[in-house]
Amino acid sequence: MKAFITRRKSLLVAAGAALALSLSACGGGTTTTPPVDKPSFAAGTTMEKLSQAGKITIGTKFDQPLFGQKGLDGKPVGFDVEIGKAIAAKLGITPDKIEWVETVSANREPFIEQGRVDIVVATYTINDARKQKVSFAGPYYEAGQALLVNKDDSSITKPEDVAGKKVCSVTGSTPAKTIVDKYAAELVPAANYTACLEPLRNKQVVAVTTDNVILAGYVDKEPDAFKLASDQTFTKEPYGIGLKKEDTVFRNWINDQLEAFAKDDTYKKAWEATAGKVIKTVPALPTIDRY
Ligand code: GLU
Repeated sequence: MKAFITRRKSLLVAAGAALALSLSACGGGTTTTPPVDKPSFAAGTTMEKLSQAGKITIGTKFDQPLFGQKGLDGKPVGFDVEIGKAIAAKLGITPDKIEWVETVSANREPFIEQGRVDIVVATYTINDARKQKVSFAGPYYEAGQALLVNKDDSSITKPEDVAGKKVCSVTGSTPAKTIVDKYAAELVPAANYTACLEPLRNKQVVAVTTDNVILAGYVDKEPDAFKLASDQTFTKEPYGIGLKKEDTVFRNWINDQLEAFAKDDTYKKAWEATAGKVIKTVPALPTIDRY
């Protein structure tokens, strides 16, 4: 992923304290996919169950600008949220009938296994270890691991630079594992990424590591405090939609919807209303992995 962060400082300055504008500038826009009127699904499928119930519970992040962040009205906004809403619409479910549950990195598999959520759309990397416990539709986006450092620090430009140094990341995330296993950093674990920001600011850690697009959201909020160590990423993090393991009919159906969203511009509009406020290039939908 190349340089994608554009500054909108002049816009923000011009906007002064206009809250609405700064909220939308933080990737807080929304789109509306009209719900399908009385969709019909084969008996016994998860789609039938959810559309009959007229409601769905979706796990997402609550503290990650651009992808999933809880707004002032208590509802999350971001690209993941828009994808969740678009899937709900295809089940005939309106946004007000979506129950949003905060899923942090470590509780996504258990929440799916326990049925506390129907799906998870939460910057959730598809990998084999997780596939032992849950199934994934997608990928619908491909991120990559990066490092967030203090603005005045030019000593770290690549992951090798954090060997033996304290780096904050989130328990249960793929970047936390990679930075220790592959780059020998000393992990300072946190429950979510926001909890890593103060330790970085106070120089208790030299970097925060996770996906570039998550870190880009924090840079966008505090461009004078933080920066990405580099525009280069050092892993591939394909984002999937987590669901109950072996619910292949539901997984295939979600995959069909993702492909439809790419064709009818739902995907593009969801991007432009959220992460696209900062990451200007609209990504192409990655090839769906119909494993
Ligand atoms: N995509 C990575 C993961 O699923 C990092 C982001 C996150 O923790 O949500 O572990």
